[in-house]
Amino acid sequence: MRREEMVRRVRERNEAQIPWDIAVIGGGATGMGVAVDAAARGLSVVLVEAHDFGKGTSSRSTKLVHGGVRYLEQGNIPLVMSALKERGLMRQNAPHLVHDLAFIVPNYSWWEAPFYGIGLKLYDLLAGKYGFGASKLLSKNETLARLPALEPEGLLGGVVYYDGQFDDARLLIHLAMTAADHGAALLNYCPATGLLRDAEGYVNGVAARDEETGEVLTIPARCVVNATGVFTDSVRQMADPNAEQLVVTSQGIHLVFDRSFLKGDTALMVPRTSDGRVLFVIPWHGHAVAGTTDTPVDEPSLEPKPLEEEIEFILETASRFFARPPSRKDVLAVYVGLRPLVKGEGKTSALSRDHLIHVDTSGLLTITGGKWTTYRHMAEDCVDHAITLGKLPDLPCTTKNLKIHGYIENSDKRDGTETQFDVYGSDAEAIRTLAEDPKLAMQLYPDLPYIAAEVVWAARAEMARSVEDVLARHTRALFLNAAAAIAMAEPVAKLLAAELGRDQAWVAAQVKEFCALAEQYRVR
Ligand SMILES: Cc1cc2nc3c(=O)[nH]c(=O)nc-3n(C[C@H](O)[C@H](O)[C@H](O)COP(=O)(O)OP(=O)(O)OC[C@H]3O[C@@H](n4cnc5c(N)ncnc54)[C@H](O)[C@@H]3O)c2cc1C
Repeated sequence: MRREEMVRRVRERNEAQIPWDIAVIGGGATGMGVAVDAAARGLSVVLVEAHDFGKGTSSRSTKLVHGGVRYLEQGNIPLVMSALKERGLMRQNAPHLVHDLAFIVPNYSWWEAPFYGIGLKLYDLLAGKYGFGASKLLSKNETLARLPALEPEGLLGGVVYYDGQFDDARLLIHLAMTAADHGAALLNYCPATGLLRDAEGYVNGVAARDEETGEVLTIPARCVVNATGVFTDSVRQMADPNAEQLVVTSQGIHLVFDRSFLKGDTALMVPRTSDGRVLFVIPWHGHAVAGTTDTPVDEPSLEPKPLEEEIEFILETASRFFARPPSRKDVLAVYVGLRPLVKGEGKTSALSRDHLIHVDTSGLLTITGGKWTTYRHMAEDCVDHAITLGKLPDLPCTTKNLKIHGYIENSDKRDGTETQFDVYGSDAEAIRTLAEDPKLAMQLYPDLPYIAAEVVWAARAEMARSVEDVLARHTRALFLNAAAAIAMAEPVAKLLAAELGRDQAWVAAQVKEFCALAEQYRVR
């Protein structure tokens, strides 16, 4: 994927006055899923993203590919079944990025084993042929053998069950590459600034600004899809300033610790915290991630900030389950994501996690809600609607068995031979080749495994444009250890400058900007 090439294609098509079949606004899981689906069907599709692909919620999840045990408790069986099926398809189509993870629900009261044991058996049952492994009851010793960090005092046993885990930003990048492999044009740093209208006032395209050059791109399209997550309503208001609010926003934070807080390869699941939510502590890229919270937010932002009470809540809840309670000084990073929830009544944690397709009277097609795990199903539904609205050829969806960029057969199996490059799937080979140059084999900072070749690869093949892109999404340094990411900023900026043809002033500005941002990911 090369940005210059993408801009050229958008410009050329506009000059030739050939509308795209579909123009997508928003490059998160939802929008990128739509781009993949449409391109794989053989439709022409262009996507514009205001920032870097995945900058919004889609790089800030709990990293679970799951049916949602919590929705089972809420009695939403169809949602759980559909998500469990999608979980299976995600592992089938992107095995290099999605793998099974064992979760333990520890039991400290006599009633928990039968209660959660039965609930999780139902979870297994609903997965049917897409099951990831059978849940079972564990004795106290078996529980401690799998989760040695657990508080032994008062522990009676546990229930183990299986779900999926992934790297959200990496899957997003590979979805972008899949869409591009099928001919989609994708532009990052290109916010939609307005909607084009035909003589009758129907939306028939997008105006977008290339942030790198200031050029305004005119993008005619038969159908425009709004997939902007928590920004859904602001884009709808470009078409109709009086459009009623569809989405409410809820914030969730995660704290990241070093791996010693969660020895072993099993995750902890607390089914009911003091505020009635679920809390996970999961192993991820050699660290332990604990989350999440659910706090209503008035104004969406691309860089939401954690609240003190959210940090304290996670530390306090985790402390009750670990023999060595984590404290503020143990937090290596805090990251925050905003859920786009379809508007309804009551607490945000009880609002629907189903997705919503909405068509405004202007013809703007909006897709929102849902979750990462269901992105493929959401995209199928959306493109089916776009075909009707845009009078497009009736091409069938092909994503159920579509291999995602990087696919390597059976690569979800964990046999102890894993390497840091596995997340690149079939692209790992190209990175190893780059690293034959000793300068590019250099590790960027001792606390994290990333090497210079990954920065060069991100710039050359994955459209990374800034230090933040590389450290937050193309690698996950910022999400794993904010202080280490700050230390990596300068070498990364220099490598990027050489690739993108930037000068010393750009390097200095990038380092300054990134360090200011990364401070928000630290807890003092
Ligand atoms: C804390 C938390 C934990 C979660 N954990 C999980 C999990 O473990 N598993 C799971 O399945 N789901 C999880 N989810 C849900 C999942 O992350 C979201 O449903 C999903 O990422 C939403 O994707 P999206 O594309 O709709 O939104 P986003 O990823 O936010 O994408 C929208 C994009 O639109 C762009 N945009 C906005 N305005 C414009 C414009 N004018 N022009 C161009 N682009 C624009 C934004 O920059 C953004 O990149 C979690 C959510 C949260 C908040």
